[in-house]
Amino acid sequence: MGNLPDKKIGVLALQGDFYEHIAILKKLDNKSLLIKKPEELESLDGLIIPGGESTTICKLIRNYGFEEKIKLSVSKGMGLWGTCAGMITIAKKLKDDYPKPIGIMDITVERNFYGRQIDSFEEKVSIKGLDDNKFNAIFIRAPIIREVGKNVEVLSILNNEIIAARQDKIFVTSFHPELTEDSRVHEYFLSMC
Ligand code: GLN
Repeated sequence: MGNLPDKKIGVLALQGDFYEHIAILKKLDNKSLLIKKPEELESLDGLIIPGGESTTICKLIRNYGFEEKIKLSVSKGMGLWGTCAGMITIAKKLKDDYPKPIGIMDITVERNFYGRQIDSFEEKVSIKGLDDNKFNAIFIRAPIIREVGKNVEVLSILNNEIIAARQDKIFVTSFHPELTEDSRVHEYFLSMC
């Protein structure tokens, strides 16, 4: 992977599909790390919060003392990417009563918009910032973005719903690029960090 920047990327390993992110980052020759303690954030260029169960991830982020440390690292310039439950976790607001997100990105998110596990699907989508080839996006009990703040750039829309967005070095996707063989979204995040 010739000209990808050499960045230190961590994947938050509290709950969810963190190993799948590590596998794709390894394929890109990235020095990726599983992050289990808040102090491990300090040296990172970027952090991925994976898909999983947002109620559990939010709870563990608070119980393990990650909330303030993630905010501090982001304020110092660390990149942050939330996939699916990770996107719910970092939103400012949810349309749902729970969990209480940590509120880093100026978006309002609605959980489980496409229904239950059984309603999972794949769809080829265009993503701004990638090349012109569509990306095969996998949606599993996926959330959508209902509203975005003025500093948020919408990167992908599927049937009128926002499914990817960016605010400076904070990035979110409703879907799961780590479950495909296509590493373009991970490369995009690396170059953002
Ligand atoms: N529906 C899950 C939640 O609300 C997210 C699902 C996923 O990450 N694939 O946490």
